[in-house]
Amino acid sequence: MKITLKPFGPVDPATLEHIAKALRPFGEVAVAPPAPVPASAFVPKRNQYRASPFFPLCQEEPGDRVLAVTPVDLFEDGLNFVFGYATMQDRYGIISTARLGPPATPAYGDRVAKEAVHEIGHTLGLDHDPNPACVMHFSSRLEDTDRKGLAFCATCTKAAGLTVRRLRK
Ligand SMILES: [Zn+2]
Ligand SMILES: [Zn+2]
Repeated sequence: MKITLKPFGPVDPATLEHIAKALRPFGEVAVAPPAPVPASAFVPKRNQYRASPFFPLCQEEPGDRVLAVTPVDLFEDGLNFVFGYATMQDRYGIISTARLGPPATPAYGDRVAKEAVHEIGHTLGLDHDPNPACVMHFSSRLEDTDRKGLAFCATCTKAAGLTVRRLRK
């Protein structure tokens, strides 16, 4: 599987490296040139960016999966904020580093890695897992992210297996 990381706004190289390292077990990881954060995603009354408008901009990017990475704070309808967002129907996901703590925080690298694997998991057809140790567990707080592991549990590994094998080249 080929995965493209697409920075929107200034994302520091160490962050992209943490993500690339976490996603390398899935296949090749390439970093696309950064793009500006889309102004159309900004919702002034919330002072946040909606996640889904980033996806059409990912469409031009090569790869079996495209993971957008942005420092701006994201939300989607019904949620005050999201650490990341993806749909199970297409090949795009996005993560925000806004709430994962300063990059100097010891847990920061693991947090970005977990959120990246989680969103890629959605694009592989995985839904949320009630198992709090699985990377597919829904994080509503940083504590949830810190508690969960970096990998799919056995059930999720099996569920994603068919797609992962199909994309293996
Ligand atoms: Zn999720
Ligand atoms: Zn799981």
